[in-house]
Amino acid sequence: MTDLGNDISGVIQADRAHVWHHLMQHKSLETNDPKIIVEGKGMRVWDASGKEHLDAVSGGVWTVNVGYGRTSIANAVRDQLIKMNYFSNSAGSIPGAQFAKKLIEKMPGLSRVYYSNSGSEANEKVFKMVRQIAHRVHGGKKYKILFRERDYHGTTIAALSAGGQGERNAHYGPFTPGFVSVPHCLEYRNQFPDAVDYGVAAANAIEQVILREGADTVGALCLEPITAGGGVITPPDGYWPRVQEICEKYDILLHIDEVVCGVGRTGEWFGYQNYDIKPDFVTMAKGVASGYAAISCTVTTDAVFQMFKDDTDPLGYFRDISTFGGCTAGPVAALENMAIIEREDLLNNTLKMGDRLMENLRALQNKHNVIGDIRGKGLFAGAELVADRKTKEPAGEKMVQAVVAHCMSHGVIIGATNRSVPGFNNTLCLSPALIATSDDIDQITDAIDYALTAVFN
Ligand code: PMP
Repeated sequence: MTDLGNDISGVIQADRAHVWHHLMQHKSLETNDPKIIVEGKGMRVWDASGKEHLDAVSGGVWTVNVGYGRTSIANAVRDQLIKMNYFSNSAGSIPGAQFAKKLIEKMPGLSRVYYSNSGSEANEKVFKMVRQIAHRVHGGKKYKILFRERDYHGTTIAALSAGGQGERNAHYGPFTPGFVSVPHCLEYRNQFPDAVDYGVAAANAIEQVILREGADTVGALCLEPITAGGGVITPPDGYWPRVQEICEKYDILLHIDEVVCGVGRTGEWFGYQNYDIKPDFVTMAKGVASGYAAISCTVTTDAVFQMFKDDTDPLGYFRDISTFGGCTAGPVAALENMAIIEREDLLNNTLKMGDRLMENLRALQNKHNVIGDIRGKGLFAGAELVADRKTKEPAGEKMVQAVVAHCMSHGVIIGATNRSVPGFNNTLCLSPALIATSDDIDQITDAIDYALTAVFN
């Protein structure tokens, strides 16, 4: 534990006076101190009061995949920064080239990596590439980008335009034209009750939108492999093969947003690799360097890359730059992050611990009627809370937040879905680091058991 001496009250004062926190209603800080996290090791973090927390959400937002306190990453970054910290990515760097090669080895069928800094930005790159292809290859057609209800692709205005979570978007319009939503695929809240095969029906709903808009206007379909903040929605059987078929049929580029699922979270390197999908674009950020440096990647195929190599046209290349996409700290941290996952066999651990997490959650579901549905893959799980199992009426947001708060008081940090579409903010989210042990998993589910008992009994 760090010794903060007398300084902590000054830190709290400075924070309260000057920091605008993310996703926060600051009224709450008029009566409560801001939480200051001062140290992390493995799965655990310590706050300024010295309290230890087991972090079941990898830094709050599914990021610190290899856990806290990784000196090998810190040392690699330090050495690289002393040698060469930055040059615009119009030139290359040693870690940039090395990480791109290593990444592509994990992603058969893909071939090019474009570096930037955040998930939102990585997705914006895809949107720009799709638009440029529309202008240059399709005579201005095929500019529309489809996104799915409940998915999230980032915070910038264009990324929000592709956002399927209502409350995140409210008051930020007008949005960028040319983004069109398709229905979600959450079987628990089945939108196609008459369908024989729910997965195929949910995918066919995408085809209906394409036909309505006109296939010659649709350039890309942007999907999370498993919806994260919108409710940990694992796709139903039959969904992905049909989605792939539809994209091929209408010549629509498939963009998979791996910002959450990427780099081990589901027990595969990438979430899409659970489903035999052939994406044209894959974007990633959070777990790429586990928060040790800011990095995001937009990865695409050689076929897409070749479309941007027309030197007969002054506009025939990708006219985009991300200044900090030239920072070497990102790729060097990402290289060591990936090396740790390999050295410590963390994909296997994720599968094993993921099974245990689901088993424990199922036991909790048997015990607590308030758990309506559990979903997930690897160390990525959600438990949807309902007021009534029969009607599936969602549990109230205050109750869900009370469960999160009780877990916190019990020493475990868990998450809950964003306030998205009203009535859909009722899923507890778990995404512990890939290094979790059986004891950690049990501690997490014990805390949830305690919290559900406290809040609902
Ligand atoms: N895509 C998904 C699936 C995400 O969950 C997020 C962030 N939660 C983003 C994109 C945006 O990433 P960032 O916050 O790094 O811009």
